[in-house]
Amino acid sequence: MSEAAAPVRTLDALIVGAGFAGLYQLLRLRRAGFTAQVIEAGDNVGGTWYWNRYPGARCDIESLEYQYGFDEALAHEWQWSERYATQPEILRYINWVADRFDLRKDVRFETRVTSAHFNEATNRWLVTTDRGDAYSAKFCVMATGCLSAARVPDFKGLDSYKGEWYHTGEWPHEGVDFTGKTVGVIGTGSSAIQSIPLIAAQAKHLTVFQRTANFSVPAHNGPIDEEYKAKILQDYTAFRRAARASQGGVVRAPAEKSALEATPEERQREFEIRWEIGGFAIGGAFIDLAINEEANATAAEFVRSKIRQTVKDPATAELLCPRDYPFATKRLCVDTGYFETFNRDNVSLVDVKNNPVSEITETGLKLQDGTAYDFDAIVFATGFDAMTGALSKIDIQGRGGLKLNEKWEHGPRTYLGLQAAGFPNLFTITGPGSPSVLSNMIVSIEQHVDWITDCLEYLREHETATIEATTRAEDEWVDHVNTVASFTLYPKANSWYLGANVPGKPRVFMPYIGGVGNYAQKCDQVAKDGYEGFALDAKEPVSAR
Ligand code: FAD
Ligand code: NAP
Repeated sequence: MSEAAAPVRTLDALIVGAGFAGLYQLLRLRRAGFTAQVIEAGDNVGGTWYWNRYPGARCDIESLEYQYGFDEALAHEWQWSERYATQPEILRYINWVADRFDLRKDVRFETRVTSAHFNEATNRWLVTTDRGDAYSAKFCVMATGCLSAARVPDFKGLDSYKGEWYHTGEWPHEGVDFTGKTVGVIGTGSSAIQSIPLIAAQAKHLTVFQRTANFSVPAHNGPIDEEYKAKILQDYTAFRRAARASQGGVVRAPAEKSALEATPEERQREFEIRWEIGGFAIGGAFIDLAINEEANATAAEFVRSKIRQTVKDPATAELLCPRDYPFATKRLCVDTGYFETFNRDNVSLVDVKNNPVSEITETGLKLQDGTAYDFDAIVFATGFDAMTGALSKIDIQGRGGLKLNEKWEHGPRTYLGLQAAGFPNLFTITGPGSPSVLSNMIVSIEQHVDWITDCLEYLREHETATIEATTRAEDEWVDHVNTVASFTLYPKANSWYLGANVPGKPRVFMPYIGGVGNYAQKCDQVAKDGYEGFALDAKEPVSAR
């Protein structure tokens, strides 16, 4: 539809995405008196938790922390049943929040934003959708998600495959019954590691194709610890304040000692304690695991020893032992019975590191050396075009028709992960250059939404037409993000943090690893200093009032 033909609706803010980020942004803007509309591709709210319905999907940040913190009453009223909530439970929660604040009335579902163009004459964004809608918005907030562009690798022959196939990130709503079927799962990241034990329990035979072995730690999931819950609910707001001041958006006592200062016995004891706690606890065992290779190697070896103890067949155990990269420099996986699954008679593991999947056939798949496998169903647990994927699918054009995809050709560039120079009044929630995927994302989402909302109120109060990151501030921030990453071991892994999972994607460490608390302080200081590093265009053009 041409821009002229579209019935243009005028708004203060257009928000793209109805996950945790888009919904909270809507609520905050509505409460601040702005007119706002959300556009969402799915037919309901939930984002990640709407799309990722594969068996075993659940959060790996504890439920009591992986929930909204902006309204203490929510935490008191909602009853999580498990330490790590399942996808259906999280989806019920976000639907409950949407109902409670009557959010759906301002969400247009089953609609995909296709373009967003900045008009310099009016200082407004013209946003269009695949349904032919057009919106003129002063502000555009991209709440499009960091892990929302599911990616099936470009395998030859997928169209010819006669069986069923699924991507974990676009799972059928009605579920899938694998009973009696031969199934192939490609991938061994978090989604695979969660789903493989459940698929194995149903399938006649499951074959797992592993390119890179992953570090995974036990969740030790169970019912909510009521005593712990009561303790944090005494002052949930303070608990969340502490999360926002922390390194990763979760409240943990920081490690105090170097792994290299500890004796081997002390190290073993500490790792064992944290292994028993479960989840990400082990990552915080010592202060230098993320920055010192020798220290890191002690944790890596500890996890490998656990894999060897668990997996009965020594050859399979060795294949499951990660060796190519430092511990936890790819996203650490948290599992329930993953390694144990390889002790089942109906499960086999195939190494595709040096003998990759070369094509999908009519009946299954083939490896480079010609070995063929037949399957009733194939599951692609192959991940996402992370952090930039959803944005890159929208034709975003800023000043002078500058295309975001061209600007980011060599990797994303932002100031604070909130804005890109050349794109005034356009914000990204948990965008590249912010802690986002290295944190409890709900904490990071709330911090961004609060900052953006405060910023919009400030601009309104000061009758300011535009806010735009300066190129200088952006350059300095990008340098800082890279410098901080280079102090760590993270760039040593071929991870999606670096875009390494997408052939041709520039290798740039995208999230900010300096910590949620430090980062939030920086954002607050920038605002206090009159939005330092942003150019504020003083007065509204008359045409835009
Ligand atoms: P999303 O939930 O991804 O929502 C974005 C929405 O935008 C989607 O609904 C999408 O349809 C919509 N959208 C995108 N582009 C367009 C467009 N052009 N037009 C219209 N709509 C569009 N994080 C944690 O902190 N802890 C966890 O335990 C955790 N577990 C995870 C498990 C899985 C399986 C995955 C995939 C991610 C997990 N994450 C976890 C990260 C998770 O993505 C975030 O925690 C959070 O849910 C992101 O919320 P969001 O609103 O920013 O984005
Ligand atoms: P992922 O971590 O990117 O894993 C994708 C897997 O597919 C990797 O093992 C990858 O191998 C493999 N792969 C990709 N292309 C392949 C190919 N052509 N041939 C063979 N193997 C291929 O994706 P994900 O598991 O969906 O997880 C993405 C992120 O979402 C996680 O890191 C996490 O942040 C979040 N998540 C969290 C949870 C949770 O526990 N709460 C669950 C799921 C997802 P390589 O490693 O070699 O690239």
